[in-house]
Amino acid sequence: MRLTEHVYLVGGGPFTGFGLTNGPDSHIYLIDGGGELALVDSGLGLDEDFSRIIENIEAHGFDPGSISTVAITHYHGDHAGGAAKVRHELGANVAISADVAGAVQAGDEEATGFAAARDAGIFPEGSSLEACEVDTALTDGDVITVGELNLEFVATPGHCAGHGSYLLHQDQGSALFTGDSLFWAGRILLQAVPDCDLGESLESIRRMASLEFEAFLPGHGSLAVNGGQVHAAMAKAEVDGLGVPKSLL
Ligand SMILES: [Zn+2]
Repeated sequence: MRLTEHVYLVGGGPFTGFGLTNGPDSHIYLIDGGGELALVDSGLGLDEDFSRIIENIEAHGFDPGSISTVAITHYHGDHAGGAAKVRHELGANVAISADVAGAVQAGDEEATGFAAARDAGIFPEGSSLEACEVDTALTDGDVITVGELNLEFVATPGHCAGHGSYLLHQDQGSALFTGDSLFWAGRILLQAVPDCDLGESLESIRRMASLEFEAFLPGHGSLAVNGGQVHAAMAKAEVDGLGVPKSLL
């Protein structure tokens, strides 16, 4: 599904996505930098869904082998579980916050919340988190080159430790990939897990509201290809009034 001149949606499950894949995958975005491609998030990485992502990429006329980076917003399984598969099968570099690179490399199902999500029935019984080498450990302001485009890492912790968003600089207005740090109508996603931090989440809202972008591309649910800043402004207005934005689920 083409969203902007350079951004496509190539995966996402039927409950919080648009049914481009089957499982509990987050939205999976493809960036076309002209000859070089990148993914933002990988989904859970179930075999059948990984194949569908590949098919969706090919259906747009792209070679999945040209994916140089998979930029991960955060280490939860629905976003990062498939990173190892993308790395092994497509030869892409894996990029994620330096704060949590160790947990990803260790395949730590406790630290990443994978075990808790599986126990809660969010991830399928029998699923597991594959340990994944991290090629690029990111800190705030780092830039990943995707062909002629720049993808900037913006630290937005709160939903979980090491959460980051990505700001794609492009001529026709930037695109902000917010992962699970901000959703449609200024909602956030608080969960009963140890590394979810409300204070950090509210700080991250202020940060995102200070950025200039047109396309608002979160990890789940509705998105906007133009005028997307309104969603960050709604969350910031809530925070400015000393309120807490509603949680998505
Ligand atoms: Zn998610």
